[in-house]
Amino acid sequence: MSVEGMSEADVANELMRLARAINRANKLYHVEDAPEIPDAEYDALVRRNAELEAAFPHLVRADSPTNAVGHEVSASPLSKVTHEVRMMSLDNAFSDEEVAEFVARVRRFLALPDDAEVVMTAEDKIDGLSCSLRYENGHLVRAATRGDGQVGEDVTANVAHIADIPQDLKGDGLFDIPAVFEIRGEVYMAKADFLALNAAQAEKDEKIFANPRNAAAGSLRQKDASVTASRPLRFLAHGWGAASEVPEPTQFAMMKRIERWGVPVSPLLVRCGGTTEMLAHYRAIQQVRADLPYDIDGVVYKVDRLDWQQRLGFVAKAPRWGMAHKFPAERAETTLEAIDIQVGRTGKLTPVGRLKPVLVGGVTVTNVTLHNRDEIGRLGVRVGDRVVLQRAGDVIPQVVENLTRDEPREAYHFPDHCPECGSEAVAEEGEVDVRCTGGLICPAQRTERLRHFVSRAALDIEGLGEKTIAEFFALGWLESPADIYRLRQRRDDIVGREGWKDKSVDNLLIAIEAKRRPDAARLLFGLGIRHVGAVTARDLMKRFVTLPKLREVVERAHAPFAPAQPAAEAPDALSPEVLEARAELLSIDGVGPVVVEALGDFFHEPHNVAVWDDLLSEVSPPDYVVETKDSAVAGKTVVFTGKFETMSRDEAKAQAEALGARAAGSVSAKTDLIVAGPGAGSKLKKAAELGIEVIDEAAWADIVRNAG
Ligand code: ZN
Repeated sequence: MSVEGMSEADVANELMRLARAINRANKLYHVEDAPEIPDAEYDALVRRNAELEAAFPHLVRADSPTNAVGHEVSASPLSKVTHEVRMMSLDNAFSDEEVAEFVARVRRFLALPDDAEVVMTAEDKIDGLSCSLRYENGHLVRAATRGDGQVGEDVTANVAHIADIPQDLKGDGLFDIPAVFEIRGEVYMAKADFLALNAAQAEKDEKIFANPRNAAAGSLRQKDASVTASRPLRFLAHGWGAASEVPEPTQFAMMKRIERWGVPVSPLLVRCGGTTEMLAHYRAIQQVRADLPYDIDGVVYKVDRLDWQQRLGFVAKAPRWGMAHKFPAERAETTLEAIDIQVGRTGKLTPVGRLKPVLVGGVTVTNVTLHNRDEIGRLGVRVGDRVVLQRAGDVIPQVVENLTRDEPREAYHFPDHCPECGSEAVAEEGEVDVRCTGGLICPAQRTERLRHFVSRAALDIEGLGEKTIAEFFALGWLESPADIYRLRQRRDDIVGREGWKDKSVDNLLIAIEAKRRPDAARLLFGLGIRHVGAVTARDLMKRFVTLPKLREVVERAHAPFAPAQPAAEAPDALSPEVLEARAELLSIDGVGPVVVEALGDFFHEPHNVAVWDDLLSEVSPPDYVVETKDSAVAGKTVVFTGKFETMSRDEAKAQAEALGARAAGSVSAKTDLIVAGPGAGSKLKKAAELGIEVIDEAAWADIVRNAG
């Protein structure tokens, strides 16, 4: 979907899904050494994420994959352990209806009457690192992380330092403990311990962990077990894996026995007689959630009878007899300690709230965007106010309430001058954003533009980070994009500066030289023309192939250049040549009058033309050729509908795009192919009416596999 047409809510949602997918892929790749998606698909997700973040910088998430410095990659990986019984994950439910449906499904599968009681266990779902502890004759012989479910890492030496994990189980009789029994549960860090650890880490200027889960994972997965020993880790059992014998008939009784053996289980584990009781327990746990010493993210239900669990078995990677019922957004209170103003590349002044660090939804939040002047007015926030933050799986942290707004203190004065250059800052009529009017004299705008130019979604020049740009800018070495390509003439000057070595300078210069023939669409996007996002830049280049051709048509569409006359206002005054050029621009999918005007404005400004000419004297982008993979669906429009087992809809769309196809949301005469999973409804009917080819998930997977 074109970035321009998206609402903030859509963007926030998509960013959430991308963060999940990319972070998961990173984790599987770096931590578990088990990549799950092909590189091309991964790249497509990362590109889309960068594109959205570039277009909506204020929606960048705390857990943005762009910020991730890789997951807890150990320098020398721990040795691998293959699980005798696969470590499963659970399907998620988010609503009461889904829980009811889960119970109904269990009943149907077991062919029980509608009124048959299905007893379930319910317990809090702790957010930690899954671990399997193998006891042989009651003695701990191996501890392994979950890994990809089949192969994990050996952490036997590490868990030796976790007091909750006994080296020997306490049996109360000769045959009480089976010969082989793998206890499964979560290694976690308590909230208070997590905050104390981060404070100590900060003191030592060492790595700060984003949340207790990361801290637990990073602490456990250490080659040097003495590091683990220094970290306050805990363990809570929630099930078992391989077992020579399971000495109890129910989940509940077995968990109670594990507890008797000396391994902690959740004190909130209960047995429920049906959906009503399950949901009641869910709400009860939700009530005490904030007061629990550890982070939880939902409630887990399991069919209590083990013979039924056996019959229910598994589907894909999850058992049919279990379900995780997730919690909605979590809220927390904290103090707004300061309001800083950031100046973006378009001059927009964005207020950022600095907070007393607080844990919300499992993540420590220290900053929160206050968006704009209106939002500050709406909340009535001032420095020192107590505010309520909300963070859910589906939104970035946000201030939802000001608890002390009635305290008689002076309102916050939104700056009327740019804090960076002192120019007047104003909101144009009808706009909520206050912008610095300094333009080219504003150092913040200029450095932000350079940052945008080298960012991943644009030229993607590695090694030219924020600090370096600020440093070179201050020296007068970097004023416009073309200067980047002239840095090689300053090689000796750079080497002479503190923090630079021959090698690091050469690496930077090599990275720059590698972008001497940059992708034309990325270059166009990198120029930061208003309303020309990455997608629009690509659409424009697809049509015009070269940048000079684009400029020629834009200039023709706006001739004579002064004064600029929007077509809608005075269509009669425009010559046939102008109308033709405008029509050509407007015929491009995703290009509307706003983009046409923005392009005209850009070339109307002599400074921009100078920057453009200067840049094109340094770089020579090759003709823009649309990259399409040799695939059965290249150039086609594909619609995905229904539920899929092996991929999410977003993943499927990313696959389609990587194959040169277009993923559309609705079926029309333009649709070439429909990929349907179970539950596809009206779209299939429409497809049949229109005579469109319909394939299933497996057939789609074949197309993906066979693409060259
Ligand atoms: Zn300024």
